[in-house]
Amino acid sequence: MSTLTCPNCRSQNVVKNGRIHNGKQNHKCKTCGRQFVEAPQQKRIDSSTKGLIDKLLLEKIPLAGIARVCDVSESWLQEYVNCKYEAVPRTVNISSKKRPINSSM
Ligand SMILES: [Zn+2]
Repeated sequence: MSTLTCPNCRSQNVVKNGRIHNGKQNHKCKTCGRQFVEAPQQKRIDSSTKGLIDKLLLEKIPLAGIARVCDVSESWLQEYVNCKYEAVPRTVNISSKKRPINSSM
């Protein structure tokens, strides 16, 4: 049994409530009465999986391979990598940046 959480009140007192027009499982929160469809893309990646991904990235394994091993989606992984590299401060060539003095003419 998966533990679904109500997007409205965070209650886990959720029951299945038939299917919507496109065949997706509909749910209803018994606490606040909110109906919602589980979003399959919103999968939580726990920190141990992220730690493993970090190691695999250092081994220069292709993203597709990491996605398969860690059971995450490639699109999620791509976004994760993008965020990761954005967070790295760019400290390259700060001290060694010497401009030649413009002495010509
Ligand atoms: Zn609720």
